[in-house]
Amino acid sequence: MAMAFADEIFSRRKNARFVFVDRRAKPGGHWNDAYPFVTLHQPSAFYGVSSTKLGEGGGALSSRAEIVSYYENIMRRWEKSGRVIFLSKCEYRGDGKVVSLVEPGREWAVTVRERVVDATYMNVEVPATHPPQFKVNAGVNLAPLNALADLKKPFERYCIIGGGKTAIDAVLFLLDTGVDPDRISWIIPSDSWLWNRDMIIPGIVSKAVMELIDSAVSASDVDQIFLNMERNGSLFRLDENVLPDKWRCATVASREMPLLRSVKDVIRKGRVKSISKTRITLEKGSVKTNAKTLHVNCSANGLSRRAIAPLFEPGRITLQSVFFCQQVFSAAIIAQMEMLKMSDEKRNAICDIIPHPEHKLQWPETLAHTVENLLNLNMHMPVWLRRTRLNFLAHESIPRYLKAAVHARLRLPAARNMAQAMPAPD
Ligand SMILES: Cc1cc2nc3c(=O)[nH]c(=O)nc-3n(C[C@H](O)[C@H](O)[C@H](O)COP(=O)(O)OP(=O)(O)OC[C@H]3O[C@@H](n4cnc5c(N)ncnc54)[C@H](O)[C@@H]3O)c2cc1C
Repeated sequence: MAMAFADEIFSRRKNARFVFVDRRAKPGGHWNDAYPFVTLHQPSAFYGVSSTKLGEGGGALSSRAEIVSYYENIMRRWEKSGRVIFLSKCEYRGDGKVVSLVEPGREWAVTVRERVVDATYMNVEVPATHPPQFKVNAGVNLAPLNALADLKKPFERYCIIGGGKTAIDAVLFLLDTGVDPDRISWIIPSDSWLWNRDMIIPGIVSKAVMELIDSAVSASDVDQIFLNMERNGSLFRLDENVLPDKWRCATVASREMPLLRSVKDVIRKGRVKSISKTRITLEKGSVKTNAKTLHVNCSANGLSRRAIAPLFEPGRITLQSVFFCQQVFSAAIIAQMEMLKMSDEKRNAICDIIPHPEHKLQWPETLAHTVENLLNLNMHMPVWLRRTRLNFLAHESIPRYLKAAVHARLRLPAARNMAQAMPAPD
């Protein structure tokens, strides 16, 4: 998000200077610690920074290696300009103070001429850096999904812990490498609706967005919204006998659904509380396990829903999402807002912050705020919105782009009404 933000200002304000501070050794944030077989979950065509293409285009998804080298190359290019400094293995401690994490006593005092841009607020958690929140007894084989790529000998069984996108990636990795689905158990604390990735391809995505809006405004209750979306092919669920409560923008391609459904031992007894050598205790019961099982931890909450902070404050910007499930595009939008000549109060009034959705009841509000933000932003930066590759709608032809905008404008009042009618999730 930091790089998507800086890229906009770097390209437009030729005298702007940046100091990046990161605890990690390299640019690229959480991707540095992601599992080796991770790919983007949405097309590369609209990920990264606006000025520089990533991936092959169309629906292609970049690998971790591609993403990390993409960010490294961009940072190297920026550093060569003399306008950017990247302080790696350093921590920001506030008030311009930067402390080295490798050399004791080494500190810097950065004079902030414009703003501190806090790009840490989203607090992305990946299994490799976030230990499980449940008790694990000695002797239990438990590893983050990164370990699957390093296995030297097969385990008799694999127990995947987690119902989110990383768990889906773990299951698909095992199946792709030839593991029999009957050797896999899958603990799903609560089911999620899954977004059909075949529909979010640049060039056709505006149709899917219009259908998302129509599904929301024509439904009688929240489940109906999701069932409408399932009917028109936008969403999947793992099991048609289970009505999911969660909606976190996890994406799955249609060809992957039969593979996921081939795992029959799905354990729906809530969250794991502890694992001993012989038993997994969950919120709503327990199941047997043994020393020949590898328990694969996929329980980190990649993008958690956080309390809202102001976007713009004197001397400070806190990067947050202003478009549903599009964090890097959001960061680029915020940079464009920073370059508008107006007060912070007016800037903050342009966009609602859109926390990452978790529960189905949050979807109508998430959708209505996104539509409202886009229409508001379009009054301030129509050309940039039409041109930036980070806007998935900008990959559409002009007639389709305009049609989607008119469609959204007409449906906005109904979407707002639907959002207001939703109770808060428990
Ligand atoms: C597996 C996975 C797949 C995803 N796929 C997609 C996708 O296809 N499309 C999409 O749009 N989004 C995707 N996302 C989400 C997206 O990558 C992220 O939301 C977004 O890029 C997060 O970037 P970030 O800058 O907020 O966080 P990070 O990448 O975590 O960067 C924050 C950085 O801040 C550093 N930091 C934190 N505190 C301090 C401190 N005090 N001092 C110094 N440094 C600090 C951290 O070391 C870290 O490097 C995916 C996320 C995951 C986990």
